[in-house]
Amino acid sequence: MHTVLVTGANRGIGLEFVRQYAEEGWRVHACARDPKAAKELAAIKGDVTMHRLEVADDRQIAHLVKELKGDAIDILVNNAGVGGSDGSTDPDDWLRVFHINSIAPVRVAEALLPNLEMGSAKIVLSLTSRMGSIADNGSGGSYAYRSSKAALNAAMKSLAIDWKRRGVIVVVAHPGWVKTDMGGPSAQISPQRSVAGLRQKLSALKPADSGSFFNYDGSTLPW
Ligand code: NDP
Repeated sequence: MHTVLVTGANRGIGLEFVRQYAEEGWRVHACARDPKAAKELAAIKGDVTMHRLEVADDRQIAHLVKELKGDAIDILVNNAGVGGSDGSTDPDDWLRVFHINSIAPVRVAEALLPNLEMGSAKIVLSLTSRMGSIADNGSGGSYAYRSSKAALNAAMKSLAIDWKRRGVIVVVAHPGWVKTDMGGPSAQISPQRSVAGLRQKLSALKPADSGSFFNYDGSTLPW
């Protein structure tokens, strides 16, 4: 029995991660800010346990740790994320985006390290974006979102190096331009295709892949 924990599991890419892993018979810990309102999540059949988690709230992270004490986690999917208002440099908005997109994934991973060490796969996947790639930035704008994902990438690279001796594999991935509330209706691919690609890549990860930045189709992306 394998176990995965997904943040932001009530809609979009996170919901699809839950659906696919549950269908495959995995034990799934599905975290959402408001589990009671997560109707689509509640309808998924399988070994799915819901947890309340606002990722930017350390007290809720601590509560989750208590709920999961002694439980192995094979894969942590840091999926929860927000887009910033395009072009805005408002400090409050920027800091909010930073907390959710850059700091929270590190806090969640640190808090769940004992669970990951008990797992067999020992993988931390954080959903980043091509928009966080400085090398790939050809259109400007999106100051808060771009910098928050670039910071996430930098932090996860450090975690990959720091946790090498613990055997934990830490990677970041771009899910593609996906049809979700964030991606919008003009996006190129379905959540099904994105998550199927990401899961395939996850299943083939080796310790030497730790610290890499890849696309949902498995290719490597520039930092
Ligand atoms: P959605 O906007 O569709 O869903 C975002 C999810 O994150 C929701 O479940 C939301 O919960 C949750 N969330 C947001 N803030 C918090 C928080 N503070 N605490 C807990 N949960 C939170 O986005 P996607 O599914 O499209 O995106 C998922 C990830 O993929 C994000 O990290 C995003 O940056 C990344 N990504 C997406 C792309 C795309 O094209 N869709 C492209 C590149 C990257 P709630 O319902 O409570 O708001």
